[in-house]
Amino acid sequence: MRVGSRAGRAVLVSPDAAAVADLATVSGGRFGADPTQVFDAWDELVRWYDTAEVDFSAHGERVDLSELDAPSPSPRQVFAIGLNYRDHVAESGLTPPSAPTVFTKFTGSFAGPVGDLVLAGETVDWEAELVVVIGRSARNVAEQDAWSYVAGLTVGQDYSERTVQLAGPAPQFSLGKSYTGFAPQGPWLVTPDEFADVDGIPISCTVNGRTVQSSSTAQLIFSVPELIAHLSSVLELSPGDVIFTGTPAGVGGARTPPWFLADGDVVETTVEGIGTLRQTCVKAQ
Ligand code: ZN
Repeated sequence: MRVGSRAGRAVLVSPDAAAVADLATVSGGRFGADPTQVFDAWDELVRWYDTAEVDFSAHGERVDLSELDAPSPSPRQVFAIGLNYRDHVAESGLTPPSAPTVFTKFTGSFAGPVGDLVLAGETVDWEAELVVVIGRSARNVAEQDAWSYVAGLTVGQDYSERTVQLAGPAPQFSLGKSYTGFAPQGPWLVTPDEFADVDGIPISCTVNGRTVQSSSTAQLIFSVPELIAHLSSVLELSPGDVIFTGTPAGVGGARTPPWFLADGDVVETTVEGIGTLRQTCVKAQ
């Protein structure tokens, strides 16, 4: 099942990703239109969809990616994980963490899958990420049960203003990664059952067509189940909560010389089996 958000309403996405259908309409009002409340009834939605046989040719409209929002547009909590791919830790010149490094991206930075990215400074960098959205309240979840708490997966970009992020004496990860538009997600949420290997999903990023990141979620230091177990041991996760799981090697700031985004650059971020985000960089006025 694929679920998205468009103009403040939850939409179902056809299996071929060509059409969207309004969830409240096709379910005859069984599910509300509010995309933030979809996750509170996620188990029920999955059961209904299994037998509903939604007719996208009758009820669907052509997909326009620029009309979509982040699939979980206003979650209660957003978690983001730093230094979570072995190759990215190596390029950062750091040693692998013994526990997840956690920060947040404030929801004011959320954006849909396609649009402009206003460059907030001279050192804006890309970070392709797999994003997890939670589907059930989760507290003290065991690793082996963790996937059952996941509503679905989507593509995310953890855009980062490196100068602000790394300004001392204590780094400002959350703020440096939360400028307007710095957390695009989408195009939609795909349920875990749709992946042949949900623990080994290819992820990549290009800038102006040149591949800058290419990896697999099999390279995560802390896997999706480990992250859910760890976070839920600290506090309760709620339906709709978002987890940015970290980025693989190939960010611009770790290159020699460093490479940061410039006016007119086009960044495309792809997670296989989900889709592609596309931002066009625009110089701040
Ligand atoms: Zn990141």
